[in-house]
Amino acid sequence: MKIHNPANGAVITDVDVDTSASVRAKYHRARAAQPHWAGLPIKKRLATIAGFRDRLGAMHEALARTLTEEVGKPIRQSRNELNGLAGRLDFFLAESQRTLRGETVLADLDNKLEERITHEPLGVVANISAWNYPYFVGSNVFVPALIAGNAVLYKPSEYATLTGLSIAQMLHESGVPEDVFTPVVGDGSTGAAVLRQPVDGVFFTGSYGTGRKIAATAGRRMIKVQLELGGKDPIYICEDVDVKAAAAAVADGAFYNNGQSCCAVERIYVADAIHDAFVAAFVDEVRAFRIGDPMDEATYIGPLTRPGQIAVLKRQVAEASKLGGRVLTGGTPIERRGNWFRPTVVANADHRMSLMREESFGPVIGIQRVDGDEEAVALMNDTPYGLTAGVYTRAEKRAKRILAEIRAGTVYWNCCDRVSPRLPWSGVGHSGLGLTLSTYGIQTFTRPKAWHLRSA
Ligand code: NAD
Repeated sequence: MKIHNPANGAVITDVDVDTSASVRAKYHRARAAQPHWAGLPIKKRLATIAGFRDRLGAMHEALARTLTEEVGKPIRQSRNELNGLAGRLDFFLAESQRTLRGETVLADLDNKLEERITHEPLGVVANISAWNYPYFVGSNVFVPALIAGNAVLYKPSEYATLTGLSIAQMLHESGVPEDVFTPVVGDGSTGAAVLRQPVDGVFFTGSYGTGRKIAATAGRRMIKVQLELGGKDPIYICEDVDVKAAAAAVADGAFYNNGQSCCAVERIYVADAIHDAFVAAFVDEVRAFRIGDPMDEATYIGPLTRPGQIAVLKRQVAEASKLGGRVLTGGTPIERRGNWFRPTVVANADHRMSLMREESFGPVIGIQRVDGDEEAVALMNDTPYGLTAGVYTRAEKRAKRILAEIRAGTVYWNCCDRVSPRLPWSGVGHSGLGLTLSTYGIQTFTRPKAWHLRSA
């Protein structure tokens, strides 16, 4: 499989792809290795993750450059991802032991009865992953899965293979046995081959379309399935905000990583009274973004990772224009080698347009005028997705009232495009099933076992 640099289309390298037979062999080795791994004291497994954290620190710049080269993420944003990962690892290192400890929930001495819960690893799990934040979305799964005593077959995205292989190498160097964490290389057909093995769970990050196929496979097998899928995340700007500050924050939430974040702001609703001022300030922000070589320190917008997304963005913009949308900046691909699209703002957008209904996953945003909270809430909820949603206002009670009515896994007041290791990351509807992060996202890689113990 050829690995391309999305900034210029050049081939970076070739990698060997797994075959059905090699996937099967990897599965069998993982199955054989898992019981010993699960039998180690948790402190030993945690020590390997602490070692992984140290290696990430030591290799930081080289890893950031590989990530930028293969996915096109601007170098400063690649470094940010690695820095953020260290914080997530610290959370798992600090919380896992307590969270996975067995618990006696009844100790009835008179009846000599004890009731206990323990957290058993699932066994061998598949982690099929996305490319947009490979360190984040991967480690949210494989780190707690390994700590809990599972073996992991890890299928990085075909667009982030080199990063996936670096992750495997660092885990192995940190003491995770090669058969306990096994990278599987290839595209969707290789992912499908992984799921033909009798794994005990599948943890997927990617698109709704692929997620449906994976859920169908897992459903037939009766295995645990977890899906972290896409979004069409809305922000509502109320009339009482500092317009310039809100425009700057939301422009960053929409265009960071070139809009290729699952929780990127994908549509904006603005209160009528400040609509025009907000749109003007927002367009100023977007025009000021520095577009260019992602290896350049000053670059904020680089190439898109996947060539195919350019056609999606063109179609959304053309349809919006036809239906009355006003393209205030951008709207077209940038004519140079690689996958480039101008940061694009479409005002006068509405829900007839796919721009406001389907995930754009690129540097394109629609803005719609609204007439008060009721209309804003109705429009924010008018989506099959439900990953995140946010409101900007000075009024705390109003914000909380609005957010209480929103159907989404995560809600934001005066912030957006934010993930915390301490909070569960989950979606409603087409945004997915299950969760990662928080202490729930540690227990999710285990099954609770109930012990009824009566002494003689
Ligand atoms: P994708 O669905 O195209 O691919 C995801 C993974 O699935 C890849 O590794 C791919 O090779 C594999 N795959 C494809 N077809 C398969 C099949 N039939 N069987 C098994 N595996 C298969 O998604 P993508 O382009 O990598 O990622 C972008 C999407 O991911 C966006 O929709 C984004 O919103 C979403 N995402 C969600 C989160 C979240 O936390 N909710 C985080 C990051 C990305």
